[in-house]
Amino acid sequence: ADRSIDADFADAAAPVMIAGPCAIESEEQIEAVVDFLRRRNIRYIRGGAFKPRTSPDDFQGLGEQGLRIISASARPAGLKIVTEVMDRSQIEAVCRHADILQVGSRSMFNYTLLTALGSVDKPVLLKRGMAATVDEWLQAAEYVSRGGNDRIILCERGIRTFEPRCRNMLDIAAIAQVRHLSGYPVVADPSHAAGRRELVVPLALAAAAAGADGLMVELHPDPSTALSDREQALDFDQFDTLLKRLAGLRTAREGKA
Ligand code: PEP
Ligand code: MN
Repeated sequence: ADRSIDADFADAAAPVMIAGPCAIESEEQIEAVVDFLRRRNIRYIRGGAFKPRTSPDDFQGLGEQGLRIISASARPAGLKIVTEVMDRSQIEAVCRHADILQVGSRSMFNYTLLTALGSVDKPVLLKRGMAATVDEWLQAAEYVSRGGNDRIILCERGIRTFEPRCRNMLDIAAIAQVRHLSGYPVVADPSHAAGRRELVVPLALAAAAAGADGLMVELHPDPSTALSDREQALDFDQFDTLLKRLAGLRTAREGKA
C-alpha cells in the first residue's frame, strides 16, 4: 500500500492541489493537463471516467477506456490519479488505475458502495451529499471505516440552498467542523460549489484560509469545448492565477500556518 498519499494530506503545510477536467475526454486533453501539472509540481490529477450526470442525455464518461487514457498518461509522469467510482461493480476496474477513489455527491448515501469500499486498500475521497447534513456525511464515512478502511478524505463540494446564484453553497463552517470532529483530512471543491469559473478562485482562497487540507479544482485546456461542467472549469491561465493567490495567503490552520 502506498502510504505517501495519507502523509501528503496529513502534513500539508499548504493545501494539496488536485486538478484536472470534470471528465476524461481524450488522450490529447489528458496529456495537456498532465504536462501542465507536472511543470508546476502538482502531484494529483482528477478526471472522471464514470460520470454521474443529472440528465441521462448528457455525456456519461468514457468508462474503462477513460481509465486507461488517464493511467497511460499520468502514471509515467508520476501523478496520482483521483477518479470516481459510482457503483460496486466498478470498484475492480477503478482500483486498477486510481490512487484515490472518489465517491460523488450523488453516491454519498449509497451504503452498499460505501460498505464495499471498506475492504479496499486505497484512500476514499468522500464527497458530501448535496443535501446531507454534517452528521449524515460523517456517518457515511463510518460505513467505510467500519468495513476496515480508515483511509478517508472528506470533500466539501457545496450544498443546496435557496440561493440560485451559485450552483451550490460552499459550507466553509463544515470544513472546519469535520476536520475537528473526524480527524480525517478535508478537501474543498470550489468548482462544483461555484458552478461559474469567476467564483472558483475566491471560494478556493476562502476554503484554504479556513484550513482545508486540499483543494480539488476543475481545469481544462479549453473550457469552451468541455463535455461536462464547462462553465466552472478554469483554463491554464486562470489556474496559474489561483496558484499565485494561494501562495500569498496566510492560512488560519492551527499548528499549520
Ligand atoms: C465531479 O467531481 O465531477 C462530480 C461529479 O462532483 P459531485 O459529485 O460533487 O457533483
Ligand atoms: Mn464536474
